[in-house]
Amino acid sequence: MSKINLKALSKQELEAFVLNSGMPAFRTKQLLHWIYEKHARSIQGITEFSKDLRDKLSQIAYISNLELLERPVSKDGTEKFLFGLEDRESIESVLIPDEDRLTLCISSQAGCAMGCRFCLTGRTGLKRNLKAHEIADQIISVDSRLIAPRKITNIVLMGMGEPLANFENVVEALWRMTGLMKISTKKITLSTSGIAPKIRELAEKAPMVNLAISLNATTDAVRDYVMPVNKTYPIATLLEACRAFPLATRRRIYFEYVLLQGINDTPDDAQRLIKLLKGIPSKVNLIPFNAFEGAEFERPDGSRVLAFQEILVNAQMTAFIRKSKGQDILAACGQLKAKYKG
Ligand code: SAH
Ligand code: SF4
Repeated sequence: MSKINLKALSKQELEAFVLNSGMPAFRTKQLLHWIYEKHARSIQGITEFSKDLRDKLSQIAYISNLELLERPVSKDGTEKFLFGLEDRESIESVLIPDEDRLTLCISSQAGCAMGCRFCLTGRTGLKRNLKAHEIADQIISVDSRLIAPRKITNIVLMGMGEPLANFENVVEALWRMTGLMKISTKKITLSTSGIAPKIRELAEKAPMVNLAISLNATTDAVRDYVMPVNKTYPIATLLEACRAFPLATRRRIYFEYVLLQGINDTPDDAQRLIKLLKGIPSKVNLIPFNAFEGAEFERPDGSRVLAFQEILVNAQMTAFIRKSKGQDILAACGQLKAKYKG
C-alpha cells in the first residue's frame, strides 16, 4: 500500500483520513496546525505527538516537501528558489525585498500554455498544472528557510503559469493560504492574463484576494498579437468581467502593463488606457519590458516610461513604475523558466 501524503489532502480529506485511521477527531486540528503553521517537514517532526503515534502514523502516511535545487541571490537582494517536484518537474518562486515588505512570487503551473510573446515562461509551453499543495508549499518552503526576523509579508501569484487555467487547484491553494496558513486576503494578489469567465467564477468560489490583470495593450489588434488569449476574450469582454468583480472597501484592481518599445508605449496608448479603465477603481503598474535571449521586443528608455506615467497621473490615475528586480539572476517578471527534466 502506498503511503498517503498528508500535505496533498484538503481539510475535509484530512478529517476523513483521521476518522478512517481510528484517531480521535482533534488530531485533524493538530495536524493542520503542524503542517501549515509550524511547517513540520515530516511526521516525526510533529513533536506534540507521542513517539508511538508518530511511528504508527509514519507507516501509513508522510508529509511531502519541495526539494530546493538552487537558490541564487541577486545583487539587489532578490532571491530565486528553484524547486523540484515529486515527478522531477521544476518550478520557481521569487522572494522580493522592498522597504518594509517581503513579497513571495509563486508559480501556479510548471510552464504556461498562454503563449504571450513577451514572456519567457510562455515560450517554454505548459509542462503541467501544479497541485494545490505544490502551490501552497512554495510559501511553506521559503518561509521555513528564512531566518528571523525575516518573514514573508505578501504573496503574489505572478510566477510561472496562468492561475485561472489551473482553476480548481489554485482556488484550493488560496483557501489553504487564508484558512490554514492564516494569511490575510489583503496580502494575496492573483494575476491573470484575462480568462474572463474564470474571473467571475473566482469571485464566487475563492477567498476575496486582490486581483491583477495583465492588460499590456490598449487595442485588440496589438493585444491579439502580444497575448493570444485576447482572441478569445477581447479587451471589452475582459474589462466587463473586471467591472463585475466585487471589490471590498478600499480595494482596487491592479492592471499590469508591460511597456514594449514602439508597440504599446505611445502617448496615444496612454490616452486609450485612461478611457478603457474609466470607472474601474484601479492601480496601474507599468513594467518596462525585461529582456531575455531571443526576445523580439525592446525595453523603452526611461524618459518614454516616465512620459507614459505622467499622462496617466495627470488624468488622476494611480500609476507606478515597477522596478524590475532580480534581472541578473533571471528572476524578474517574465524571465522565469526553470529547468525541466530530460
Ligand atoms: N500568467 C499570469 C501570472 C504571471 S504574472 C499573468 O500573466 O498575469 C507575470 C507578469 O509579468 C504579467 O503581468 C506579465 O505581463 C509580466 N511579464 C511577462 N513577461 C514580461 C517581461 N518580459 N518583462 C516584463 N514583464 C513581463
Ligand atoms: Fe503565461 Fe502570464 Fe507569461 Fe502570459 S505572461 S505566458 S499568461 S505566465
